[in-house]
Amino acid sequence: MNINSNIVIIGCGMSGIAAAHRLIGAGFNNVRILEATGRSGGRIKTGKLGNSIVEIGANWIHGPSEGNPVFCLARQYGLLDPEALTPENQAVDVAGHPPWVPNIFSSSGRRLKAETLRPAVEVFFELMQESSEFHSKGGEPCASVGDFIRSKLQQRVAEIWKDVDANTRTLQMGAISSMLKVECSVNGTHSLDEVGLGAYGLYKTLPGLDCTFPGGYETLIKKMMSELPNGSVTYNQPVRCVHWNNTEKRKIPLTIECENGEKLSADHVIVTVPLGYLKKHHTTLFHPPLPLHKLHSIQRQGFGTNNKIFVEFDSPWWDADCEVIYLVWEDEDAIVDQEPDVQRPWIKKLFGFTVLKPTERYGHILCGWIAGHESEYMETLSEQEVMFAVTQLIRRFTGNPSITPRRIVRSQWFHDPWTCGSYSYPGKQCSMQDLENMMEPLPVKGLQSRPLQVLFAGEATHPSYYSTVHGALLSGWREADRLISHYSSISPSQLAKAKL
Ligand SMILES: Cc1cc2nc3c(=O)[nH]c(=O)nc-3n(C[C@H](O)[C@H](O)[C@H](O)COP(=O)(O)OP(=O)(O)OC[C@H]3O[C@@H](n4cnc5c(N)ncnc54)[C@H](O)[C@@H]3O)c2cc1C
Repeated sequence: MNINSNIVIIGCGMSGIAAAHRLIGAGFNNVRILEATGRSGGRIKTGKLGNSIVEIGANWIHGPSEGNPVFCLARQYGLLDPEALTPENQAVDVAGHPPWVPNIFSSSGRRLKAETLRPAVEVFFELMQESSEFHSKGGEPCASVGDFIRSKLQQRVAEIWKDVDANTRTLQMGAISSMLKVECSVNGTHSLDEVGLGAYGLYKTLPGLDCTFPGGYETLIKKMMSELPNGSVTYNQPVRCVHWNNTEKRKIPLTIECENGEKLSADHVIVTVPLGYLKKHHTTLFHPPLPLHKLHSIQRQGFGTNNKIFVEFDSPWWDADCEVIYLVWEDEDAIVDQEPDVQRPWIKKLFGFTVLKPTERYGHILCGWIAGHESEYMETLSEQEVMFAVTQLIRRFTGNPSITPRRIVRSQWFHDPWTCGSYSYPGKQCSMQDLENMMEPLPVKGLQSRPLQVLFAGEATHPSYYSTVHGALLSGWREADRLISHYSSISPSQLAKAKL
């Protein structure tokens, strides 16, 4: 196929790059990516802390096995550690919950045994499992995962812990609050009260123990970019408006208007901007406006914030085999995953740290995780203020007043003007239909205008792998394939007419 149709892709993240790759590979020779920033990769962003690389955005290949195209590409390019390639690693099925070795500390400076908190962990995982089953059963009993967990927990706690003393009960409830905060980070939401119960189980996991890129996630972007023709991307070129359905006779259907006033004509545009950006700017980004059903689906789908705070130490204060550190507040027996006044105790939303491994590569670096409005508030503070809060937190939980971090670096995804948050999750009242509406091209089927003018890709448009890099990649391929099969199904004479 050698197609001269003019295709513009908005956004040079994984989905935009994947779409360009596929189209160019299929013989389309007029593909151009417009990117608002000065770099490729979008939410794949590798940074530095001292001499070590740290992932400001995506961290792991979730489910690195044959069914994951990110894993297959990374393997093909030779970017992974040998351990990640073993059949054993690919076969492990942890259903999204890696079996990390924990160290647990409480707010009174005590070290807790995992055994002590096992009852809380069991109840919590039972409830999360039940929450994920409603999408196939239908008829969810309440609107959100948070509502469901709270109501069920009250009943179960009254039964299971009726004979335990107040202190033990408070500790177990504190542990449940910590696990709720973990789930807020995983889902990229302020609170599980905002995550729709009916659609919660739509997310699918793949087998394989999550792995990282030894040279950074951006090594994958660099490899993919090196296979695109030079000049495929125009950087620092934010798009202001997509004018679609141009009706004047003989006119090609689309005009892409950039912030700098430049205007480009196109036959097709693939929009890959993040859902956070779309929610904020859809009124100005499309002319005519998006159809109402699509807009409502964009509004129903959730997009929240999850940030990382990397902290480096001269020496570790955790065990050599520790992979994750959990912090349990002993004053949170009312099951909290959101702080009422975000400004004062914002740090309480940070559930703990993952340990960067192997130590020979990273030294002693922890990655703190914080989601929601507290995380958005954290972004407004100076690095010194964040470092001070983290230091106080660690000193309190370890009971060791001499622990002092060497340096920190944090992400600020909410205030990134081209992302406006971290990733998507199914919001309240969200259903499979909404996810299908998200990926539906414009104009909708049945209208007389030229088909496939505006196509939609990006992680939030994948029906089961939303919020991931592999979801983003598959969505880019999906929209490229839509165009490829469209052009394969029309005859050369129709094609010539379409170009008139
Ligand atoms: C903190 C964090 C941790 C994560 N961890 C993981 C993980 O461990 N594993 C995993 O699989 N996924 C993870 N993700 C999610 C993953 O990074 C994303 O799902 C994926 O990278 C999204 O790719 P995308 O192409 O859909 O969007 P993006 O990468 O956001 O690309 C969109 C591009 O559009 C550009 N753009 C926006 N507006 C305009 C405009 N008007 N004009 C032109 N360009 C525009 C943006 O600058 C951006 O480059 C994480 C994300 C975050 C934020």
